[in-house]
Amino acid sequence: MSAIYNFCAGPAMLPQAVMQKAQQELIDWNGLGVSVMEISHRSKEFIALTQHAEKTLRALMEIPENYHVLFMHGGGRGQFTNVVNNFLGDNGKALYLVNGQWSTAAVKEAVKLVGDDNIDQMNIVENCDGVNQVVLPDLNAIDKDYRYVHFCANETVDGIEIFESLESPWPVVVDLSSTIMSRQIDVSKYGLIYAGAQKNIGPSGLSIVIVRDDMLKLPSLPQSSIMDYSVAQANDSMFNTPPTFAWYLAAEVFDWLTAQGGVTEIEKINKQKADLLYQCIDSNPFYKNGVKAENRSRMNVTFQLTDNSLDSEFLKQAEQAGLVALKGHRIVGGMRASIYNAMPLSGVQALVNFMETFAKQHS
Ligand code: PMP
Repeated sequence: MSAIYNFCAGPAMLPQAVMQKAQQELIDWNGLGVSVMEISHRSKEFIALTQHAEKTLRALMEIPENYHVLFMHGGGRGQFTNVVNNFLGDNGKALYLVNGQWSTAAVKEAVKLVGDDNIDQMNIVENCDGVNQVVLPDLNAIDKDYRYVHFCANETVDGIEIFESLESPWPVVVDLSSTIMSRQIDVSKYGLIYAGAQKNIGPSGLSIVIVRDDMLKLPSLPQSSIMDYSVAQANDSMFNTPPTFAWYLAAEVFDWLTAQGGVTEIEKINKQKADLLYQCIDSNPFYKNGVKAENRSRMNVTFQLTDNSLDSEFLKQAEQAGLVALKGHRIVGGMRASIYNAMPLSGVQALVNFMETFAKQHS
C-alpha cells in the first residue's frame, strides 16, 4: 500500500515509530509478559514510566521547578471546567479572550459554572479588509481584579494562532491543546497551561496540566476530587486509576520528540511545513486563506477553494491520492490540513503536489 497521510485535527496521527514500538510491546511490556494496560498503576514499573514521562516532558518544555506536571482525565474540555472550579471559589472573576471556536466554548463552560457576572469576555480578532488578525489588548490598562485571564494559543478550527506572549497583571491560563511542543514557549509566563493529548501528545481522553505552585492556593469551588488540581498534585496524578495506556503512549511520544532533537528542532520542521503549504495557497488563485500571516496557525492550516462547488471533488480525489481527513470543521467548512509534529515534511509535500495538480486540472 502506498503512503497514507492523515491530516485529521484530532485524534491526530501519531509518530509511526511510536505506533510500531507500541505494537511490538502490546502484549509483553518491559519483559513482564503482560501489557502495560494490564498492570497496576501503583506497580514499580508503571511508577518508573510516569517519572520518566514527567522528566522528559520537563526537559522538552524547560518547565521550571515551581511548576507541577499533572496527567489528568477529561481532555481539553475537562480543563475548561477544572480551571473554573479550581480557581473561581469565593466569587472570583476571570477574563476570557476570544479568538475562535475553542475559546468561545471555554467561555460557555465558565459561564455555565459561575454565571455571567463572574466571567468577562473580550473578542481579540479583528477583520481588516477581509483578513482576520489578532489584536492583543493592553491588559495592564484594565482596572479590574481577575483571578486569571484565559486564552487559546491555537484555535484548531479557525486556524488562528497567537505567537506573541500575553502581558498580564493576572495569572495567564492558556489552552495549548493543538500547539503544545510544536514550538518553544516560556512556561514561566503562565499560571497554568493545559492541553488535551490527542494532537501532539498521544491518545484522546488524557490531558496534561502544568500549573505554577502558587495557583494551587487559589480558592476553589466545591468539586469532585478527581478533577481537583491539589488532589492530583498530592497524589502524583493517581488519586483514582489514571488512563495508563494513554500515559504510556505519551511517554513514548516524549521520547520520540527528544530523539528528533526536541522542541527546537521540531519547530524548524513545523515552520518549514507550514510555509510550504501557505505558499502554495497564496501563490494559486484557486485557493485562499483569510488569516493574517502573523496569526496563521502552523498546526492547522485552513483554506478554501475559491470555487467551493469543487469541495467534494477535491476531497474525493485527495482521498484517492492517500491524503485523508482534509475536510474543514463542520462549523466553518472549507478545508483544513492539520500538520502536527508527527506529520512528516513528505506528507505536506504530497499535499502541495496534489493541490497544484488539482488546480491545473480544474482551472
Ligand atoms: N481546546 C482546543 C484548542 C481543541 O482543539 C480541542 C479539541 N479539538 C479542545 C480544547 C477540546 O478537547 P477535548 O475534545 O479533548 O475535550
